Amino acid sequence: MSEPRKTAAELLAAYDGPPLRIMEVCGTHTHEIFRLGIRKLLPQNVDLISGPGCPVCVTQVGFIDEALWLADHGVTITTFGDLVRVPGTERNLADARAQGGRVQVVYSPLDAVTYAREHPQEQVAFLSVGFETTVPAACLAVEQAQIQGIDNFSLLTANKTMPNAYQALKGSADVFLYPGHVHAITGTGICEDLVAEGVSGVLAGFTAKELVTALAVAVTKAREGAPFFVNAYPRVVRPEGTPAAVTLMNKVMEPCDAEWRGLGTIPQSGLKLREEYAGYDARLRHGVPAIEGHANPVCRCGDVLRGICKPSDCPLFGRVCTPQHPVGACMVSGEGACSAYYQYDGGNLL
Ligand code: SF4
Repeated sequence: MSEPRKTAAELLAAYDGPPLRIMEVCGTHTHEIFRLGIRKLLPQNVDLISGPGCPVCVTQVGFIDEALWLADHGVTITTFGDLVRVPGTERNLADARAQGGRVQVVYSPLDAVTYAREHPQEQVAFLSVGFETTVPAACLAVEQAQIQGIDNFSLLTANKTMPNAYQALKGSADVFLYPGHVHAITGTGICEDLVAEGVSGVLAGFTAKELVTALAVAVTKAREGAPFFVNAYPRVVRPEGTPAAVTLMNKVMEPCDAEWRGLGTIPQSGLKLREEYAGYDARLRHGVPAIEGHANPVCRCGDVLRGICKPSDCPLFGRVCTPQHPVGACMVSGEGACSAYYQYDGGNLL
């Protein structure tokens, strides 16, 4: 008689292999796993660690300083809300706004184009901070500005791409929980290639069922011993990704070296505007000087993003650094690991 079939939760709980470190590359996964109580299903020998998949968290301090420089020089900053409270070297964009700078929160890059069209007397810069998931929308905004002849709009870019980050993170976990929304754009080729290099991973969706299934697949395949890749989010991620979005990205932007908080400079892991679109580059348009930012030396965001420590290992966590008074980007962002630990597990950890 065959064994009765097990649920994904039972498979996960039954894992009794060697200690396994699974990295939630994506900040949304970190939050959803906490929020849905999935950590309670994990056996003792499975450890979840957070990775660098929150675009706000990995943005370098110097980028915030550049945005502050623009605001101080009369440029209107348009941005998603999270970035307003991310600390620069000495202050953040909320401080700049309090000091008279124009900082507008928008809900999409196209909103920023609309703002620029409606305020022709202002120079408007959108803070383009994101992964492959959101960069196409910034590229679309540049295209629209060009089509509509809007010449007071530009991008300050700190975009990142995942493939080279995976390379930089190799060895920091036994299994990557790949971000479903990134690979909905890029496809699964890079994940397949990484298997050949001995890197295992499971591509996960965001519902409770999808996350538990992905984790169950991870522990079951890891038990078998050989490197593996499984797309556990096939309802959204196709092997070829979304070619139209990739084509648009490649048309407007090109790879560049990029500085990641905690990971340093990773060659060819960023996206900047191509020369044909240089007129929309805020650095060139406004002559932004080279600025080297400095993070609070006690903040351990960099180590959190590399999976070296947990937010609760930071001496400032929950005491000095809270969502109301964030010291580092990982506590500000809605996808940040420190904010997730504080919001869902702070009481247990303090
Ligand atoms: S708790 Fe605050 S200071 Fe500590 S690593 Fe996280 S963001 Fe940085």
